[in-house]
Amino acid sequence: MFSKILIANRGEIACRIIKTAKKMGILTVAVYSDADKDALHVHMADEAVYLGASPSRESYLVATKVIAAAKKTGAQAIHPGYGFLSENAAFCRACEQENITFIGPPVEAIEAMGSKSAAKNIMEKANVPLVPGYHGDDQNEHTLKQAADAMGYPVLLKATAGGGGKGMRQVWSEQEFSEGFAAAKREAMSSFGDDTMLVEKYLTQPRHVEIQVFCDNHQNAVYLFERDCSVQRRHQKVIEEAPAFSMSEFLRTKMGESAIKSAQAIGYQGAGTVEFLLDVDGSFYFMEMNTRLQVEHPVTEMISGQDLVEWQLRVAAGETLPKTQLELTINGHAFEARIYAEDPSNDFLPATGQLNLLKTPIESKHVRIDTGVRQGDEVSVFYDPMIAKLIVWDENREKALQRLAKALREYRINGVTTNIEFLYNLATTDAFKNADIDTGFIEKNHNAIFHQANDKQGNELFTKQLPIAALYLVLSLANKTKEQAALSNDPHSPWHITNAWRLNEPHSHSLILAYNDIEYAIIIEQKRQASASYYQITITGEGISTHTVDCQGEINGEKVTVTIDGHRSQSIISHNNNNISLYQEHGVFSFSQILPDHGQNQDDDNHGGLTAPMNGTMVSVLVTPGEQVTKDQPLVIMEAMKMEHTIKAPSDGVVDEIYFSTGDMVDGGTELLAFSSSLAQTENTEVK
Ligand code: ADP
Repeated sequence: MFSKILIANRGEIACRIIKTAKKMGILTVAVYSDADKDALHVHMADEAVYLGASPSRESYLVATKVIAAAKKTGAQAIHPGYGFLSENAAFCRACEQENITFIGPPVEAIEAMGSKSAAKNIMEKANVPLVPGYHGDDQNEHTLKQAADAMGYPVLLKATAGGGGKGMRQVWSEQEFSEGFAAAKREAMSSFGDDTMLVEKYLTQPRHVEIQVFCDNHQNAVYLFERDCSVQRRHQKVIEEAPAFSMSEFLRTKMGESAIKSAQAIGYQGAGTVEFLLDVDGSFYFMEMNTRLQVEHPVTEMISGQDLVEWQLRVAAGETLPKTQLELTINGHAFEARIYAEDPSNDFLPATGQLNLLKTPIESKHVRIDTGVRQGDEVSVFYDPMIAKLIVWDENREKALQRLAKALREYRINGVTTNIEFLYNLATTDAFKNADIDTGFIEKNHNAIFHQANDKQGNELFTKQLPIAALYLVLSLANKTKEQAALSNDPHSPWHITNAWRLNEPHSHSLILAYNDIEYAIIIEQKRQASASYYQITITGEGISTHTVDCQGEINGEKVTVTIDGHRSQSIISHNNNNISLYQEHGVFSFSQILPDHGQNQDDDNHGGLTAPMNGTMVSVLVTPGEQVTKDQPLVIMEAMKMEHTIKAPSDGVVDEIYFSTGDMVDGGTELLAFSSSLAQTENTEVK
């Protein structure tokens, strides 16, 4: 076994690998960039070597620097984690040349999986099922169209060099083929410099089911069951689970054996994942093989009781696999939710900032948190904005899902916009509970996830959620007053009284809460009947009739207990500045408190530029200098982390100058364009 390894990565995966190495008594070397000099992975490792500037192409992606760091520290092996250099054949070869063990597959296996059509040819020969289609060398449009006509529509055109869903086009009929073919080729050429295409049957309701495989260099191979990763947004996984729901033992064995066949076809060693599309009728088709540890590997660890990083280290050191297929069993059910700094309501735009508050659920055998950040750390523009992976386990899917909802309710992050509420809403939909899931899950359940008011919700908003949020605000204000009174010289001063006892008028508060950008005026009156005190809450808003609700309630920390119409219920509240989020059984309701505007609430960002939210490439400039634009009008489109992000106008205004053109690489934080808001000119005249 190695005595020292270098981890050529950062964030949660670097920390995750260090934990196992420590457990095994192996010394660890971290690497870091400027932005990461104080990062958690650097603190956890025994040694750390500086690589370079913050952008990863100047640090984590520079193979020569990583290898030099390993040589300098005497590390015998390099674990690449995922992303960065993990699937880079040239890096793997360079390690070999320097006599450093690459903790991953042989270079030939990485190369074999590099092209979609080459990978398919290999798998076809190995009798692994493929989506029916054509992936040959003849690139004549007629040949591809004939193949499409023969298998029937819809079909999917894919760039063989593709990735991240680029160069992919659905074609729904024979008549559309020519146009779709030309468009997919254009996109492939501009994205990959290669417009070779393949065509395959388009499955309309597939699931993404992947198999974890492991091979050693003593001819042993096992599969550690499957993960269902169908819940995706723009081909990025959001929540993964293991085992996959409604999976028969027969299908599990068949897919597992196919995955092993795929791995053996390319002489695989180490941890790999074979991704399949699973169709409604139980047929499954090879999609691709990832030749590294996956982000979602913890769900497999939770149900199998195995440490996959330990397996990787053992196999890389030449040992045999720790278990045989017969010794591996599934125990219970696990979910993983990826907690991201991003704004789901703005097309999942990555967010940055300081984690002012980071309060996680308590870890136990049911809850695991893999993270690379601490409270106070910065989510920078330079790297993937994943904050943590929340993994839960219980003995079955239903119980595990309850654990997931509870843990998400308890996760508190302030300072950075996150997807926690989005994940909670998703995990509490009926469709997710019932495992009514395919790769179109988020689009199909958009309204339920994003709480677009339907009738029932609309009504409950006025009779339930708005009154609870308002009552919470008033009760927490009363608590604060009491606390202050206790500290003051005269705790019995009448100015500190917070009960309903008033001589002439009811004790009343008024406030404005906005939900989905619509404002509601709320009056809360404290009243007394017989000896009981209660609150009368009156809600008015544009286009709605006035609602009045009588209720009683109390708060205890983040918990608010409210009785409305004899129905007593509890909710968890997260209150951060003017944002109030109410976690209920079927999702979270987020309100913002609108404070009276005395002129201080003006956005002081009215002038100046708009900056790139992350490192990326400019893919489209939609405006010209001098152009008058309206609030939310798309200005430019950037691509990063396999996704396109539209940068929109923050208000009505004028684009003064644009600093980049299509195709330019842009570092996160750089100003993209100069923008003058028309709000700035009317600053003192426009008072709301
Ligand atoms: P990329 O490498 O660009 O990410 P993949 O081939 O891995 O492309 O496919 C990405 C996603 O596209 C899959 O997870 C699946 O959701 C969808 N997809 C791919 N092939 C098909 C197909 N034949 N039918 C339906 N959906 C597909």
